[in-house]
Amino acid sequence: MNVIVLKICFMVFWVATGIIRYPHGQRQKKNQIRTDNKDALEKTLLAGATIGIAILPLLYVFTPIFSFADYQLPLWINVLGLALAPLTLWLFWRSHKDLGLNWSASLEVREEHSLVTNGVYKSIRHPMYTAIWLWGLLQACLLPNYIGGFSTLIFFGILYFLRVGKEEKMMQQTFGEEYRQYMKQTGRIFPHFWLKQQNV
Ligand code: SAH
Repeated sequence: MNVIVLKICFMVFWVATGIIRYPHGQRQKKNQIRTDNKDALEKTLLAGATIGIAILPLLYVFTPIFSFADYQLPLWINVLGLALAPLTLWLFWRSHKDLGLNWSASLEVREEHSLVTNGVYKSIRHPMYTAIWLWGLLQACLLPNYIGGFSTLIFFGILYFLRVGKEEKMMQQTFGEEYRQYMKQTGRIFPHFWLKQQNV
């Protein structure tokens, strides 16, 4: 597929994720932070995620600076990327909606924090992270460039693996047995019923 068309499709997706997130970023300010677990590592990971999710793909789309890392992708991979868009956007929207005022971009517990176990959180503990993994895959399928294509998978991947265990520990400290029970009924980023079927 033509690279300009791919870049336009990716930017429509990218702007849509911003439109989904913006009102939640505004609304959650109403729910004050009670515990802030943002240490130096977490701040570095957040900066890395911003580079991977926003800065590098935008530099690729709008400037020629990464043209040395261009390559060609077969059409079916581009089509796969486009096909991932509705599911990814839906899951990104739905996880924000279900998490409501409990959402934060970082490891924080809010004053009125409640444990969400309904909606998409019923069978997956980290559906927003699932959506961002799908976003990374979509980006790799649409942008034929080693830097522009893989930046979200790499930078978000590092954040995910270094954060998810800490986040679950923080949730256990906050909600105790309730969260431990919840962990037994859910999969981390794949639905629990799917994991059960695979016997893992
Ligand atoms: N990891 C979750 C949420 C990402 S937002 C997901 O991928 O869907 C990160 C914040 O959400 C964390 O700081 C934590 O305070 C909060 N959080 C995570 N899981 C939660 C849950 N089940 N209920 C309420 N808050 C949750």
